[in-house]
Amino acid sequence: QAKSLGTNQVCFFDPELQARLQERTQLENDLGQALEERQLFLVYQCQVDEHGDTVGAEALLRWRHPERGLVSPAEFIPLAESRQLIHKIGLWVIESACEVLVKWAQQPALADLTLSVNVSPLQFQALAFVDQVREILSRTRAPAHRLKLEVTESLFVDDRDDICLMMEELKNLGVTFSLDDFGTGYSSLAYLKRLPLDQLKIDQSFVRDLLESSTSSAIVASTIALAHSLDLDVIAEGVEREDQRAWLLEHGCRRFQGYLFGTPATLDEGDLIQR
Ligand code: C2E
Ligand code: MG
Ligand code: MG
Ligand code: MG
Repeated sequence: QAKSLGTNQVCFFDPELQARLQERTQLENDLGQALEERQLFLVYQCQVDEHGDTVGAEALLRWRHPERGLVSPAEFIPLAESRQLIHKIGLWVIESACEVLVKWAQQPALADLTLSVNVSPLQFQALAFVDQVREILSRTRAPAHRLKLEVTESLFVDDRDDICLMMEELKNLGVTFSLDDFGTGYSSLAYLKRLPLDQLKIDQSFVRDLLESSTSSAIVASTIALAHSLDLDVIAEGVEREDQRAWLLEHGCRRFQGYLFGTPATLDEGDLIQR
């Protein structure tokens, strides 16, 4: 294009970048309709104990785009966050999880399972968040103590009192907290003293090369020890191989999630229960 101007003018028009920006904007607009159009849905991945019995699941969001097919949450969650859509979507996730918990409560084999949902740090910026969760819990009559909110360290970077307060209020409703992707953030460990956490979730990046990297194995062993000494549960995510499971178990980790036990699936595809 620059050439066709026929001069030595500099032209910054980059068709590839332009196309990518356009696609992003289009996707953002589409995401605004995705809930109403029923294109969002949840898949569930089991979490197992040391015997391989399912003790819970994590709900993971999926978007079936009418033209593009399945879009990864790694791609569309950041879009939702940049457009404030995350509040509506996040509440829909929590409400859907609560409805599942109510169904499970009616089946003896499922009644004890916990259900984890991912919560974006941005959702804590809405002052109404706690009230909205309270309202969902009371309307659905879901067993709150079976609902686990997965938060990430980025929530604690600023060490804000109001975040701590909101977490305390949510705890009072009965819900529990898991710290997702532990060890990948940039926050200090000081928050572990102040925040009402229940579980540390070892990030899959450390699990992946656990048996090949002495750094990863040191980090994982320390995380398990830290969890135990702080009286927190600990779960490893991204467990794909039996040797990883064996190593983790040997070092005191008794909760696992990963392809070794099950891939995320809709409930009717149902490979949740491994008993
Ligand atoms: P996450 O919460 O850390 O979820 C774990 C991710 O690892 C999931 O990717 C899961 O499908 C994948 N995974 C599970 N087992 C294995 C394994 O054995 N090996 C490997 N390589 N990967 C495994 P997914 O579903 O693509 O989600 C990616 C991220 O998107 C999540 O990471 C979470 O941060 C975010 N996300 C997903 N659903 C939601 C949601 O409802 N709300 C928010 N705010 N974020 C969400
Ligand atoms: Mg998670
Ligand atoms: Mg994670
Ligand atoms: Mg992760």
